[in-house]
Parts: sequence; structure tokens; C-alpha cells
Amino acid sequence: MTIAESLGRVRERIARACQAAGRDPGEVTLVAVSKTKSEADVRAAWDAGQRVFGENYVQELARKAEALRGLDGIRWHFIGRLQRNKAKDVVQVASCIETVDSARLADAIAKRGACEVMIQVDLAREPQKGGCAPEELDALIAHVRATRELTLRGLMTVPPLEGDPRPWFRELRGRAADHGLRELSMGMSADLEIAIEEGATLVRVGTAIFGSR
Ligand SMILES: *Cc1c(COP(=O)(O)O)cnc(C)c1O
Repeated sequence: MTIAESLGRVRERIARACQAAGRDPGEVTLVAVSKTKSEADVRAAWDAGQRVFGENYVQELARKAEALRGLDGIRWHFIGRLQRNKAKDVVQVASCIETVDSARLADAIAKRGACEVMIQVDLAREPQKGGCAPEELDALIAHVRATRELTLRGLMTVPPLEGDPRPWFRELRGRAADHGLRELSMGMSADLEIAIEEGATLVRVGTAIFGSR
């Protein structure tokens, strides 16, 4: 299957999930996760109308963003773990950093310029995945909101690989609602339908578009 065909299938899955949930498909943004994939693959997806791409690694993001900046309307979301000393390279190219998980990282980003961000929450307490601990979330939201350079769009999470993701998606939605945050980045290739049912506004899909890594 070509990337254009795979992308078509993912769009259909999103449309069907929205219909089943009684949601407007315009509320759900597809973030095409292109980590480890070639610039040619990103270009193929762009040719098929995809505009928002997700990357996990700073160097890879910088290289692709530079090589592909001629593609009209292309936008990059950073979805990987970010070290504070790399914040500069990401702020320059990413339209959104989805993985802010500490006040120190938020400050490091703000020092480098204005940026839209999301807070990653480690709901299942799997520290290797990144994300702030649930009990730290309220304070981190307050900190980011008090930081003039940063615009807080919402919350992001990566649920455990095993088991039903729904309770985690539901919990993220509840926490966002508690704080009046609109955007929810949750759902990947395997579980985007469940995420959309539970209110996702951004789904991050790699394998189902670009094939296995
Ligand atoms: C790689 C990755 C994805 C995409 O996962 P797939 O299962 O390939 O769709 C989504 N979110 C994050 C944070 C990732 O690292």
C-alpha cells in the first residue's frame, strides 16, 4: 500500500470514529508521526494533503524541517523527550511541543521564544515514558499558564502498551476539563478510535500511515 493509500485509510478510521461518537471530524487533527521515516515519506504524505507531522528526536526534526521547509503549510509537533539544552533547536521549528513535563523544561523553552505547548502526563506512572506525575499536574499547569511566552493548548498522554487504554484516556479528559483545557493529544495507530470516543482532538499516528519502524 502506498503512503497516500494508508493515509486515506487512517482518515476513514477517524471519520468513522467521529461519526460513531457524534463528533465533528473537524475537531480531530491527525498528527502523522514520521520518526525514523525518510523525507521522501513525509513528502509523499504532504502530497496527499497531510500537513501536521510529529517527530520524537531533536536532530531528526531539525534536519527534516530544514529539508522540507518549502512544503507549503507543513507544521511540526515535537512529541519526544526533550532535554532542556535542546529546547532552542525545537522552539525554532516546532509549532507545538506536546511533551512539556516539568517547570524547568517549560522555563528552558520560554527562554528560547514563544511556543505553543501541551503538558504530557504520566498517568500510569511509567517514568521511562516521560510526563509529569499526576500529582504534579495542577502546579505545572499553573506554572505554564503564568509563563508569558508559552500558550498551553492542552494535555497529552501515552498509555501503557498493555491493557485497555480507555480508562487512561478518560482520566486525561477529566483532568483537562478540570482546568478548562480544550486539546487532548491521545490515541495512536492501534487505539485512535477509542481515543476519539473519549474526546481526543489530536491523534498521533505513525505505523498505520508509514508502515512499521
Ligand atoms: C511513535 C509515537 C507515536 C506513533 O505510534 P504508532 O503506534 O506508530 O502510531 C505516537 N506518539 C508518540 C509519543 C510516539 O512516540
